[in-house]
Amino acid sequence: MRDPTGFLATEYRSLVDSATDWKLRVLSGPSAPWCTVDGKKVLMFCSNNYLGLSNHPRLKEAALEAIRTHGVGSGSVRPIAGNMDLHVELERRLAAFKRAEASLVYQSGFATNAGLIPQLVGEGDLIVSDELNHGSIIDGTRLSRADRTVYRHTDVADLERVLSAAEERTPAPRRILVITDGVFSMDGDIAPLDRIADAAGRHGAMVYVDDAHGEGVLGPGGRGIVAHFGLSRDQVHVEMGTFSKAFGVVGGHVSGSRALIDFAYNKSRTWLLSGSHPPPVAAACLAAVDLLETEGKHVERLWELTHRFKKEMRALGFDLGASETPITPVMVGDSHRAKALSDRLFDLGLFALPIVYPMVAKEKARLRTIMNAALTDDDVTFAVSAFAKAGRELRLI
Ligand SMILES: *Cc1c(COP(=O)(O)O)cnc(C)c1O
Repeated sequence: MRDPTGFLATEYRSLVDSATDWKLRVLSGPSAPWCTVDGKKVLMFCSNNYLGLSNHPRLKEAALEAIRTHGVGSGSVRPIAGNMDLHVELERRLAAFKRAEASLVYQSGFATNAGLIPQLVGEGDLIVSDELNHGSIIDGTRLSRADRTVYRHTDVADLERVLSAAEERTPAPRRILVITDGVFSMDGDIAPLDRIADAAGRHGAMVYVDDAHGEGVLGPGGRGIVAHFGLSRDQVHVEMGTFSKAFGVVGGHVSGSRALIDFAYNKSRTWLLSGSHPPPVAAACLAAVDLLETEGKHVERLWELTHRFKKEMRALGFDLGASETPITPVMVGDSHRAKALSDRLFDLGLFALPIVYPMVAKEKARLRTIMNAALTDDDVTFAVSAFAKAGRELRLI
């Protein structure tokens, strides 16, 4: 008889053959600037731990203390018996940080997009999405019964065209949701959120920004993209983010009006039906928000190192794509060559992961580097020299 699971090995083999499979490396110990990956001491150059908070003593101490006072689990989902004072306090502090009326914390950023988007729009509505939006937005969109259409990447004129065309439809969409990443995770460019909000405003559409890579990075004190552009909550209605990147822990969140938050927690199935964060997670997130509120130096240092790295890499002749943020892709093109560059750098003691199809287009394979505020000046010198050596060997520069 035919094996009904035969496709598993066949499909995996084709991923390996096209060099698009994930080779998992193992980190022993914390995600620190110098860490141990596959048993080798290397400089971490591709984590999302922008500010070095994932191993910060204040966050670790807060997590340990919460275990002592609250235990390791919340015991339930939040609507039933798992809503702890730590969760409520975290939301209060996050809303204050975001200068929003209210905030809501989800288990992850993915769970936020998958849980909230399909509630904001449904049958008879329209989602208008940047063509390079994150996979969790794509899945959230697919879970909705709304029509969907994409506009060209960060192209506001194309967005206008899509919104005008939507008005011509009969029947016209009941609600329109314009949705975009704030900072695009593969290219490091910034969405023109001010102009997107203007265009959406002219057509009476809601605006939803996923600021996973903008928080802790953009705006005064790392408050994110809405603060970066100085926009109001009447212009950007849903500001979504995550605690898994610059905040250094895990968890998704959304900020906006009280009405948005009341709606969101009563409607999002990912929030209602999945266990709430363990106390140490909530407490560590709370300590991260507190740290950003009180210590601006981490964000400043991140940008200082980012500017220096980009300048030196460009001077060497590397193509850094459209990046404007600490996400700096080093464009390679072919996925086999991107992997070869990553492997060579790893030999030299630098850990930067290749990003290949289907994460990015087939001919746009790259190494994605992400700057980290905890690096020393010498660490950055080390990274640039490793790139210079490997880049010359592979004839990229
Ligand atoms: C990482 C990321 C997410 C998912 O966040 P998690 O909290 O890690 O689930 C969502 N959107 C974007 C743009 C991201 O980069």
